Amino acid sequence: MISTCRHPELFINLPSDVALNNHSPVSVYASTAQDEIIVRTPDSLMNGLAMEQMIQNCCPEFQYKTLLACDITTILGSIRIANGENTLDVYIECPHCKNSDSYEIPLRQMLVNINAKDWYTDIELPNGLKVSVRPPTYSRYSLFAMEEYKLRKSVMQISALENREDYSDIVLDLDKKHQNLVLDFQTGCIYKIEIDRAEILNQEHIKQWFSNSDLQLQKLITDHISKAEKSCQLETVTINCTDCKKSILFPLDLDFCNLFRAKLVSSDEQQIVTYLEKLNKDIKKLETELLKIVWYMRGGVSLNEAYQLTTYQRKEIAKIVEDNIELTKKTGLPIL
Ligand SMILES: [Zn+2]
Repeated sequence: MISTCRHPELFINLPSDVALNNHSPVSVYASTAQDEIIVRTPDSLMNGLAMEQMIQNCCPEFQYKTLLACDITTILGSIRIANGENTLDVYIECPHCKNSDSYEIPLRQMLVNINAKDWYTDIELPNGLKVSVRPPTYSRYSLFAMEEYKLRKSVMQISALENREDYSDIVLDLDKKHQNLVLDFQTGCIYKIEIDRAEILNQEHIKQWFSNSDLQLQKLITDHISKAEKSCQLETVTINCTDCKKSILFPLDLDFCNLFRAKLVSSDEQQIVTYLEKLNKDIKKLETELLKIVWYMRGGVSLNEAYQLTTYQRKEIAKIVEDNIELTKKTGLPIL
């Protein structure tokens, strides 16, 4: 639901549209308190619902089901800019001297470099075949990412065992499953194969053709798909450590569902509990803030409306409340 007190903050062209020469800007709204809660709700982050709700709320013109994975970084970056965040604040531990510090990365500039051209460029193979690829939908990517998470988590759990050698067969099996999952996902991005004047469009036939192709051809295609995927993500940034001045490479990802899963994969049980408790605490803090707004606004803002307020609007209301409290104190009247 778009609240009536919000207006589009910016208009963007999606990378997939630009690649197809279709310049029809779409509007982006700032996110609301409701979005901030959903991106801190573990189940919604795990199953991708957080992404669906955030996009429906901030980019109501998009059909989430048909949204392409190659457009997601641009959309998420634009929502941040709509929220007034022109930089990404990251907290990094230097791998050289272990100094931890926060760094500001210019977001706007990085978004400009995203392009989806490779997704719409045919691959000309040395044997004269032409392979056409297309970007997957974000929904399809999300299903893949969830399956990948489950496999990675299983591998991590086994590698944490003392006698992990006993499980080497299981690890090999999980590794094989992972390779197949990636292969399935990538071949699913092949949209058409042209052989002489014939065309293969059937997905099953494409998969069969791919598995029967020699490894060199397979590599040419998967390399092209990986390159296309990378061009639509934020580039890895190089930061100079504030202490030892050495350079640190830092990969950036705006997909909060991905980041959540990655965090769970790399954390042990205790770290996961602490992390989930922190998310829960953040939600409670935000809810208290919303209740305070409703109370101090004396019915001017309902609880439902408070959930639809953007960060900027909440800050402004807090200022008004603060000013009024100060004013009331000066007059010597009781604050009710
Ligand atoms: Zn350092």
